[in-house]
Amino acid sequence: MSDGTLGPEGAALSDGAQEALQLDAADPLAHLRELFVLDPGTVYLDGNSLGALPKAVEGRLADVVSREWGQLRIRSWEESGWWTMPERVGERVAPLIGAGPGQVVVSDSTSVNILKALIGAVRLARRDAPARGELLVDEATFPTDGYIAESAARLTGCTVRALAPEQVPGAVGPRTAAVLLNHVDYRTGALRDLPALTAAAHDAGALAVWDLCHSAGALPVEADAHGVDFAVGCTYKFLNGGPGAPAFLYVRSGLQERFDSPLPGWNSHADPFAMAPDYRPAAGAARGRVGTPDILSMAALEAALAVWEGVRIEDVRAKSLALTDFFLRCVAAYVPNGPAGTGVSVRSLTPAEHALRGSQIALLCDPAEQAEPVMKELIARGVVGDFRRPGVLRFGFTPLYTSFQDVERAARVLGEVIGGAR
Ligand SMILES: *Cc1c(COP(=O)(O)O)cnc(C)c1O
Repeated sequence: MSDGTLGPEGAALSDGAQEALQLDAADPLAHLRELFVLDPGTVYLDGNSLGALPKAVEGRLADVVSREWGQLRIRSWEESGWWTMPERVGERVAPLIGAGPGQVVVSDSTSVNILKALIGAVRLARRDAPARGELLVDEATFPTDGYIAESAARLTGCTVRALAPEQVPGAVGPRTAAVLLNHVDYRTGALRDLPALTAAAHDAGALAVWDLCHSAGALPVEADAHGVDFAVGCTYKFLNGGPGAPAFLYVRSGLQERFDSPLPGWNSHADPFAMAPDYRPAAGAARGRVGTPDILSMAALEAALAVWEGVRIEDVRAKSLALTDFFLRCVAAYVPNGPAGTGVSVRSLTPAEHALRGSQIALLCDPAEQAEPVMKELIARGVVGDFRRPGVLRFGFTPLYTSFQDVERAARVLGEVIGGAR
């Protein structure tokens, strides 16, 4: 790699490479990389889309298929603990989002859980105040959240108002039933002020529903401490549960008894095997279940979550900020901005301020049409991020397995691609 053909950026390169080595040597989480399947030829910066495979998953999946399914068959619902997996795996996710026991269930997809949470929130809000008929939704939200919110509104006779998260405190009022926000913006990587926005919703008597897809496993959420009412999130991004791994649903314990799920399937019945004609909801987190859990995906996720044993989310956050800081510095040093090379320039859309930054960096390309070919070329050279319209290069930093040397190499290759080096 460092073959001395790098031109004017060469000096900064050796400094950056040296600094990366030192940062990796001092990294208290560096040993966790060993728990993942990674190849030395690739810098993987797309764990905010699909987390890398934890090594423990393969053996666990082989066992669940050959022994639990192949040999025990139906006995596994009880003997292998299949039936209670949604709650059990939920308890493993809970500490990562600052939730005490009994509030998180793993079930269905994030999209489906948004429907449960939003309609659940509207029904709760209206018990005390039937006139509440408005949902406030992040205007830049991940699309599925917006689509589901529109349908939830039609089903409940509410209206949807799209707005920027910072407008919520001024907009939320006596007509608001619920506020649906993304904790981290999937495109820019901006982190929202969850404590303040939750408090603003509560001050107006509305419920706060948070989508934690880009924060669960990347930074502290402290759902209990901040009084979050409902939260949803996926487990295949920073939680590395595998493609399509089931999502989680958090319902604050103080609301559970009154939570009226819009999808009351037989799995959420108080006594499912009574096969009773009338529905009686289960107590606790199980009320968020719907139908038969997807055991194979759930088993992969359960094994994947073992990598968190003894890991403090505060340490993960500290490393995430150090990785993104270092990436921004390397990009500034290595990537020519202006007429040199290919004439493409980049600027960061991700807030520089730590308090406003998630665990990704989004670089906007000018001209925007160049973002897609730049990302294709990066991937061809072994640096995997992704591209989002109109011209955003997204780089996700999973602190459990991303090294500072990865970061330095990614920025250096980006500099080579944009600088027109071959
Ligand atoms: C990834 C993501 C989703 C994905 O939803 P699925 O139902 O798992 O496809 C939803 N919301 C946000 C904010 C996301 O980042």
